[in-house]
Amino acid sequence: MYDAVLVKYGELSLKGENKSYFEKKLAENIKRLFKKNKIKHEKITRYRSYLIIDIKEDEEKIRNILISIFGIANFSFAYSCEKDIEKIKKIVLKNNSFYKKSTSFKVDASRQDKSFKQNSMEIGRIVGETIHEKYKIKGDMKTPEKTVYIDIADKAYVYFEKIQGLDNLPTGCGGKVICLMSGGIDSPVASMLAMKRGYYVVYLHFYQGKTKKEAKKILDILKILNKYEGSCKLYLVPFSLFQTAMANVFPNHEMILFRRYMLRVANIIAEKEEAKAVIFGDNLGQVASQTMDNIVALEHEIKSLPIIRPLSCFSKQEIIDLAKKIGTYELSIKPYKDCCSIVSKHPSTRPNIEKILRFEKENKIEKLVEKTIKEIEEIIIN
Ligand code: ATP
Ligand code: MG
Repeated sequence: MYDAVLVKYGELSLKGENKSYFEKKLAENIKRLFKKNKIKHEKITRYRSYLIIDIKEDEEKIRNILISIFGIANFSFAYSCEKDIEKIKKIVLKNNSFYKKSTSFKVDASRQDKSFKQNSMEIGRIVGETIHEKYKIKGDMKTPEKTVYIDIADKAYVYFEKIQGLDNLPTGCGGKVICLMSGGIDSPVASMLAMKRGYYVVYLHFYQGKTKKEAKKILDILKILNKYEGSCKLYLVPFSLFQTAMANVFPNHEMILFRRYMLRVANIIAEKEEAKAVIFGDNLGQVASQTMDNIVALEHEIKSLPIIRPLSCFSKQEIIDLAKKIGTYELSIKPYKDCCSIVSKHPSTRPNIEKILRFEKENKIEKLVEKTIKEIEEIIIN
């Protein structure tokens, strides 16, 4: 049975001086998801360019977890043994079924521990000869049907498969961001893209209706996104406060007013969470409220953290394809009364900034935001 998993970095390995910080974050993320899924493992060791996880069982579960962790280029289930060429040979030969029906193979050896007697080429040659003798298949360095991997690290590891990971950067290594989450297709994808680039995402949703039960759809979406983070926090805000105070009084501008209000609330939560940016699922030109003029009007005279729009230049089809891939699409298209569908049927594509500022002042927007903050509820989703 396999007793180790070798986790190799992709982009992360380019990180130079900060590499160990990134590695630590990756190990933490793995530990958190293992714990959540009740997976027994002995320890995670950092060795040169990879992490080594000692495992006992649960191969299938571990595979499912590691394929959704950002920062992993590939991983392999391995057999470990003493750093001794005879012992390595024994393990390599044991896997009968691996060589069956194959006509060619190669040995891909990597000597991380330079004190090991044979170098990579020699290991490849010695082990290759033994495989050839026993299984009568030929060595082929260029287009082998099968590859046997041998790594000499803290121990010797033998493995037969590299499973591709998601690469990118470990979630959380860049700090936290606040994601404005609607019930639509776009914002869950935007949040996944932020996680993929190393941000830990905290969510904020404005729900329509009387109680937070209305937001069940959001909880369901977050449960899916949780496969990346393990657990997350959602701030829920009733939309009714804004609706009572602002909606239906400034024709064609409710949407931009609502978005400016959301941005203000998001910034207060960001301060509490020590988050570094605000994420929107906006996409340039997709709908009337997402013209460049509206984007300019959103931030005008609001003291805000940087706003990041991971989807700004994606096509709708590209976003849908991603949503399907991460598994949020089916939930996102379920009927849901999002606030944005209520505030304005025909948002202005060229909002009047002067009027917006005057309107907000007259209607004491800051007071409304203060009142809103008191109504916010926090939910932890595991
Ligand atoms: P989505 O598919 O994410 O709903 P969309 O293309 O439908 O996006 P809008 O509904 O105009 O566009 O919303 C634009 C962005 O504003 C969303 O991606 C999200 O970041 C934010 N947003 C919209 N509604 C809400 C809400 N009720 N709560 C929190 N954020 C919201
Ligand atoms: Mg929407």
